[in-house]
Parts: sequence; C-alpha cells; structure tokens
Amino acid sequence: MGLELFEKALPILDTIEKNGFEAYFVGGSVRDYIMDRAVHDIDITTSATPDEIEDMFDHTIPIGREHGTVNVVYQGDNYEVTTFRAESDYVDHRRPSEVYFVRDLYKDVQRRDFTINAIAMDKNYKLYDYFEGQDDIKHRLIRTVGNAQERFSEDALRILRGLRFQSQLAFTIDKLTYIAMQEQIADIEHLSIERIVVELKKLISGQNVEESYNNLLKLGLFTHVPFFKDIDMTKVKIDTPISFEMWLAIIVTKCQPQTTLSKIKISNKEKSDIQLYSKIMTALPQINSKEDLKLCVYDYGKTNILDILSIQSILQANDLATASPIIVNAQVINGISNQLPIQTRKEMNVNGDDLLNHFQKKSGPWLKEILRNIECTIVTGKVQNTKDEILKWVDDNVKI
Ligand code: ATP
Ligand code: MG
Repeated sequence: MGLELFEKALPILDTIEKNGFEAYFVGGSVRDYIMDRAVHDIDITTSATPDEIEDMFDHTIPIGREHGTVNVVYQGDNYEVTTFRAESDYVDHRRPSEVYFVRDLYKDVQRRDFTINAIAMDKNYKLYDYFEGQDDIKHRLIRTVGNAQERFSEDALRILRGLRFQSQLAFTIDKLTYIAMQEQIADIEHLSIERIVVELKKLISGQNVEESYNNLLKLGLFTHVPFFKDIDMTKVKIDTPISFEMWLAIIVTKCQPQTTLSKIKISNKEKSDIQLYSKIMTALPQINSKEDLKLCVYDYGKTNILDILSIQSILQANDLATASPIIVNAQVINGISNQLPIQTRKEMNVNGDDLLNHFQKKSGPWLKEILRNIECTIVTGKVQNTKDEILKWVDDNVKI
C-alpha cells in the first residue's frame, strides 16, 4: 500500500507551512501506512487554529470547531484538520469538558490513546514517534500513551477502543494496559451509548474478533452497557467476524431479551435489518419442503437468506438450529429466486377490491387472510397469476 493518498494531501501541509505553521499527518492513517494496510481517511494535525485554517483555504467546513477540527475540502476530498490540543478536566471518565489549543506537537500526541496512534508524519514522510509507537507496531502491541490507568480513567472509551484495535489489527494488549482495563472497566457506565456502538461495530467485524470478544466477556464490559447488561452475554459466542446487525440478530434470536433495541439508539434501518435477520434465523430450521423455501425466499429476500447461510457455523456455535442443507442451500435459493412467479404482493392480479366485489361482502379481517392465502398459492405455483384462475381457485378453496 503506497503513499498515494498522502501525496494527494501534501499541498494542504504545504499551504499550512507556507503560512508559518506546522502540519503533520497523524493517527490511524500513519499507523496503517507503517503497517502496510490500506489507508482510508487522512487526519492532519496542525499548530494553526481553526480561524487560521479557515483563512488559508477557500473551502472549509467547521465540523467540530469547538474541538479544533475543520474539514478542508481539497480537489473534491475531505481532510480533517485539527489544531494541536491538550485536554483537561475529564469529568465522569468521558471526553474532557475543556480542550486547549497548543502550539506544540508533543503535547498533541501525548493526549492520544495508544502509542500506535500517536505517530506523526511530516511532508517529507519523516516520522515523529515520541512514544515508541513503531516498536509497538513491530511487536504488534497495544499500549497506552503514558500511564494506562490514568488514561482509561480520563476517558473509558479508550478501553473499548483498545479492544477494537486488537480485533481489527490482530495485536496483543500490553500487560499493564490490560490490567488497567480490568481496573477501570466499570467507568464504561459513564459513556454515551452512541460512542460505544461506533466501536462495537468495528470490533465485531474485525479479523481477530474471537480473541477481542473473549476479552470483552472476561472484562465483563457488557454488564456496563445499556441493553447488553440485561442479557447473559456469556451465552453468545463469536469466533469469526460478522456484521453488527447479524450479531444483534443472534443475540435477539438466542436470548429473546425482555429489553428493547431502542436502548442502543441505532437507526430504524438497522433495527429492522436485525429483526428481519432474526425472523429468518427462526424460519430456516422450520423449512421442510421446497414450497416452504419458496415462501421464505419470497417473504425475506434471497440476499438476506444467503447472508444468514454464510454464518451457519456461528449459528451452530450458538446452538441455533440450522436449516437442512439438502433443502436450503445457495444453489437452490438462487434457482427459486429466479423463478418466483411474483416478487411482491403488488404484482398479484387480484386485489382487495376485486375480492370485495366478488364476494359482495363488507371488508374485515377475512380479506387480509384470503389475500395472504392467494399470495402463498401463487408463490408456490399452485395457481397461475391471472384474475380468472385466482377467482376460480378462491371459489373452489375458500369458504366465508
Ligand atoms: P480508524 O482507522 O478506524 O479511523 P483511528 O486510529 O484513525 O482508526 P479515529 O477514531 O479515527 O481512530 O481517531 C483518530 C485519532 O484520534 C486516533 O488515532 C487517536 O490518535 C486519536 N483518538 C481518537 N479517539 C481518542 C480517544 N478517545 N482518546 C485519545 N485519543 C483518541
Ligand atoms: Mg481515523
């Protein structure tokens, strides 16, 4: 993985320096570059204040001005440019109530969470590594900058971030850092659920999730987090990376929690995906015939079912019954999906009005029931999707 993304951003560092300030690449992008991993977004740290940055560039967006962050839009790309800062007054073990802008790179990297994230790089690709971050990268070690207990006590999210990096990078957690995690774990209670969820999403889909997830359980982290604290999370086993939605669907299906997903403040789309996955997890093992499967593919969609099939081994590890591979496999599902007579109820050639007319009866719950019966009959190929055929089938089969 090369320097291309940094090269594209070099003119930003240049402009800042020409205006008499310092500027460096920092954080995840420098870490990933040293590790030869794909670099995604590039963060820049500078001695210039947000005002000064806004004066230098034509197109800026004040995304987090109060924390010193301004987005510089350059050649269509966004770069987060953050003023060197130091933090003080951590209240309740979460983000500081005040940040100070400073003019000194050392102070800025000193407040960063882990040594591997505290390396700065200038426009000549020279590294400024005050805390032996490169050594830790070499030894694949996650270690706090400074005293671990103090750093976790300032901001407990760092505990979860450390475990998240363990999962994403397949690193080991330094012994003292781990001991401090054990000591400070209860402070997770003070964090907002939104910040926790951001890290959990990255953790659960990381390559080394098994080890990291087991650490979450050993540390008892979930007992301090809304929603999860009401569930016996030791029952939920994760040994390969999965999506956040899939993980929650397993929890919901296996543990049937009395608590509600709204406690974790996720989007409605995420909530409905979780519920849909959970329905499929429940439905698949009950499929005993090709007809059952046709309805399942029609109701839940081919892609969603294939997604569930791809995590069969995790379902098994969680004692969730799985579908019979003879009836339910990717090839059969693809075939069924291509041959479904209709994709949605809208494509049915009989609607509610037609039935009301046909029966000359007032609407009621009976109507919904018949419509669903007709839908199932069409999907399973027992009747052709034409008005005549459907009404004939109704006359022969439905008594009201
Ligand atoms: P990713 O590759 O997932 O973006 P990252 O290391 O860039 O990982 P970010 O959350 O983007 O992580 O944060 C950028 C940098 O800001 C980190 O590398 C770290 O230096 C610093 N940082 C972020 N959160 C904290 C925190 N809670 N405490 C101290 N430093 C932090
Ligand atoms: Mg980042």
